Amino acid sequence: MAFDARSRAVASEPSGQIADERRSDPGRRARVLSWMTLGGVVLGVVAALDPTTVRPGWLFAFAGVIVASGLVAVASRLWGARWSDPQTFGVVLLLDVLVMVSIAANQDRTGALLNVVMLLPPTLFTAVFLARPLVRGQEAVVAVACGAVMGLVADSPVQWLSLTGLPVLSFVAAAETVLVLRGDLSEVLRSLARLSVTDPLTGVLNRRGLSPEVFDRATRTARYRSVVLLDIDHFKVINDLFGHQAGDRALEAIGRGLLQETRQDDLVVRLGGEEFAVVTAADADETRILAERLRERAVEWIAPWSGTVSIGTATETVRTPGTAAPHDSLQVLLDRADRCLYQAKRAGRNRVVADRGDG
Ligand code: GH3
Ligand code: MG
Ligand code: MG
Repeated sequence: MAFDARSRAVASEPSGQIADERRSDPGRRARVLSWMTLGGVVLGVVAALDPTTVRPGWLFAFAGVIVASGLVAVASRLWGARWSDPQTFGVVLLLDVLVMVSIAANQDRTGALLNVVMLLPPTLFTAVFLARPLVRGQEAVVAVACGAVMGLVADSPVQWLSLTGLPVLSFVAAAETVLVLRGDLSEVLRSLARLSVTDPLTGVLNRRGLSPEVFDRATRTARYRSVVLLDIDHFKVINDLFGHQAGDRALEAIGRGLLQETRQDDLVVRLGGEEFAVVTAADADETRILAERLRERAVEWIAPWSGTVSIGTATETVRTPGTAAPHDSLQVLLDRADRCLYQAKRAGRNRVVADRGDG
């Protein structure tokens, strides 16, 4: 049967967070928006110092663009971190409009054409920080804006087409490149995150993967939270008699067996060495039955090395299902199960000791 450990480890990932790492810091996004807009303000002021920049009668509009941009920069700095994706996109669209007005206010044709590059920063900003459909929206806006600007200066339809095509192609290529890189980065982050919580030998979760958050997510809606702690008996002897590689095969067999023998929603973890844990949303009786079954099956999995396992279990009753588990809940359960495991070892090994207490 296929060894489906990876999918179980993946299921325990903090989904979404990893993929959207770069979008998950709204403060940084707001700062970038603010500084970028401020850069436009500075450029506008410098341009206004040159009397040949602004078209006669357009000085008021040009000053309006500078003031409005300044307000956007300040607002982004103050409140940008709280803006949603669509709200931030709204601000980007406002910046697009301001760029368009500044282009219209330009006196000469070359200046107008050159000003089109001011659509690049908001486009790149969108590509880096906002959701894919919004990036595509910005690309469309930029295409229409460039078409309109070039319509003002082009002498013929053919010239309009080439004048529009050049910047649109560049902007769309830049935005799409960022999107591709962003996708690659998300993929790398996702696989790194997966690796960091996966035990390389057995493919089950490692100790780091069993965080209180993962534990909480796995048992959030449950009425009971249980831990089954399994330790191979005299594993050192298996290593000594059959060699370290055989010991590794035994560990793999336990990991594979636990994944097959437990439910999709259960967590299977290698806590370290030859000690494994199963986290399950079962009550004390079900957990003891599960533990007994796992003990019997484990003897079969590691039969080639005549191995046995000892198991301790612990269960807690969830007072209000659907609410977050207390932060120490996992550790308390592990400690209780560990005490039972110790008793199982002391009592002669190859047995289950279940902690029925709920304190
Ligand atoms: P007990 O029944 O009391 O649990 O005895 P034990 O021998 O199983 O436990 P002990 O803690 O004395 O020894 C555990 C051994 O597990 C020692 C260590 O070398 C071995 N071990 C730990 N990690 C690995 C591993 O990844 N591969 C192999 N082959 N052995 C390992
Ligand atoms: Mg052991
Ligand atoms: Mg041990």
